[in-house]
Amino acid sequence: MNTKPSNIPECIKKQVPLDNKNWFRTGGKAEYFIEAKSIVDIKSAIRWANNNTIPITIIGHGANILISDDGIQGLVVIVDLQSINHQNNILTVDAGVSVDQTINYALNHNLGGLEFFTSIPGSIGGATCMNIHYFDALLSDYIQTIQMIDLDSTEIIEVDRSWSNFGYNQSKFLSKKYLIISVTLKLNILTDIKTAYAQGRSDEIRRQRSRRYPPARTCGSFFQNFSTDEYKHANGSTKIPHVAYYLESVGVKGQLSSGKASVFSLHANMLTTEEGATSNDICTLARMMQEKVDKKFGLWPKPECQILGFKQSPFIKT
Ligand SMILES: Cc1cc2nc3c(=O)[nH]c(=O)nc-3n(C[C@H](O)[C@H](O)[C@H](O)COP(=O)(O)OP(=O)(O)OC[C@H]3O[C@@H](n4cnc5c(N)ncnc54)[C@H](O)[C@@H]3O)c2cc1C
Repeated sequence: MNTKPSNIPECIKKQVPLDNKNWFRTGGKAEYFIEAKSIVDIKSAIRWANNNTIPITIIGHGANILISDDGIQGLVVIVDLQSINHQNNILTVDAGVSVDQTINYALNHNLGGLEFFTSIPGSIGGATCMNIHYFDALLSDYIQTIQMIDLDSTEIIEVDRSWSNFGYNQSKFLSKKYLIISVTLKLNILTDIKTAYAQGRSDEIRRQRSRRYPPARTCGSFFQNFSTDEYKHANGSTKIPHVAYYLESVGVKGQLSSGKASVFSLHANMLTTEEGATSNDICTLARMMQEKVDKKFGLWPKPECQILGFKQSPFIKT
């Protein structure tokens, strides 16, 4: 990387702490940082980074990331675009709008479908990249098109659902080559009475989740569920219990900790931190969990949480 980049645009700051920009509240600083409120700023920042061979990392609301204690080298971009509007049943949402704001807007305009995702923290950009899920419902079931910037060419491109290769915890955006600007969602037009039911469902999901999940200092589920192939290979069967089943079986829930990171007492797949925790505490804890599951079941859990700024993933089986 170029150590003396030329003409840093005014909108880019240097050495910005990231611990207050992610839910674990750990991690070091961004070498360069922009919280961009316009496409013009996003494009000029990307061009500057490309001209200086500086790597680009995008973060959303930080609900599913773990940032290295050494921080992130290069430019970190937060897409703070906040507009939302609709025509008939097609909702167009900017990447920086939260999932809950999107659901509220939809229900206020008699549009349903998204309420299953109530209370899932994060931005629409992050939710699209991760393809958020609630039981069998995937956000991609509703996505029509995505407007994005190709980080190499800085061109704005519109792609559709099939291009995006969505699956469980999967999308082409995880390649980190594209910056999502906005997303269009096709929703169901509801009568007033059906909207009231949908609102009730949303409220109930919010209540349920507040009883089961930690309110802060977590990334939700740390590990992803096993794929059918992985499970079949280890057990000769295609029945795959959730990864939390295996974690619970090895007795980590509410029991295992490392430094100021621990496994949540109500959910074996959720790690939480306390004031003063480091990302290294989380890595050590998660690694212990992987080793325990591997030893008992011959399965190696992989993180759903996106690992940023590490020279090498701390979670690869050695
Ligand atoms: C308490 C809790 C409960 C949760 N429950 C669920 C759940 O039920 N279901 C579920 O699926 N997830 C769940 N999650 C995980 C998390 O909410 C989602 O993954 C969410 O979509 C993350 O969005 P974000 O904006 O915070 O993205 P971040 O965590 O900031 O980033 C996640 C990924 O998206 C990329 N990204 C972010 N914005 C953009 C953009 N504009 N363009 C391109 N790439 C981008 C980042 O590079 C990163 O790879 C939970 C998390 C928490 C803390």
